[in-house]
Amino acid sequence: MGAADRAEGARLGELRTVVFDIGETLVDETRAWGLVARAVGVPALTLFAALGVVIERGEDHRQVWPLLGVDAPSVIPTIERSDFYPDAIPTLEALRRAGYGIGLAGNQPAQASGELRALGLPVDFVVTSAGLGVRKPAPEFFASVVAAAGLPAAQVAHVGDRVDNDVVPAAGAGMFSVFLIRGPWAHAQKSLPGAATRWESLG
Ligand SMILES: [Mg+2]
Repeated sequence: MGAADRAEGARLGELRTVVFDIGETLVDETRAWGLVARAVGVPALTLFAALGVVIERGEDHRQVWPLLGVDAPSVIPTIERSDFYPDAIPTLEALRRAGYGIGLAGNQPAQASGELRALGLPVDFVVTSAGLGVRKPAPEFFASVVAAAGLPAAQVAHVGDRVDNDVVPAAGAGMFSVFLIRGPWAHAQKSLPGAATRWESLG
């Protein structure tokens, strides 16, 4: 074990709470984006490809609507338990059994907090951009996550699928930052600098 591994091991030992991003970290958004494609009247493949273009350009995902020349959808699909990646809920349950605090934090609409709480997940707190009035990657968002955990930042891990919106700002806030490599953003951004600890899955 090298010095870097020992340093990381020491940091892992300090952790008391794990905070997860929501979209494409815990939740597979394929079904939701498919519903949105139908709602705005474009084929799903066209929307998925256009989303990839926007991601590669480093733009906000909402730029996909002007790119396609359609209005943004008026209704956002609800998050359902079946949308979670197969390893997501078992991981939350295992962390809970092991005594960790668990938070969810994402750029999500106002409805998401209630939807997530209604699913009966083993979660201590939910932080959403709509609830805070500030979106990731703003430092204020991550400061609010640390405040919700009620711990020093060094005792909080953050797991997310985006280098720009999750990995870099979570580390900047002093949290132990984990880059989960799944979903379209992760694959587009995995060569960017700034990813400390990398996981291929949660299991
Ligand atoms: Mg995400």
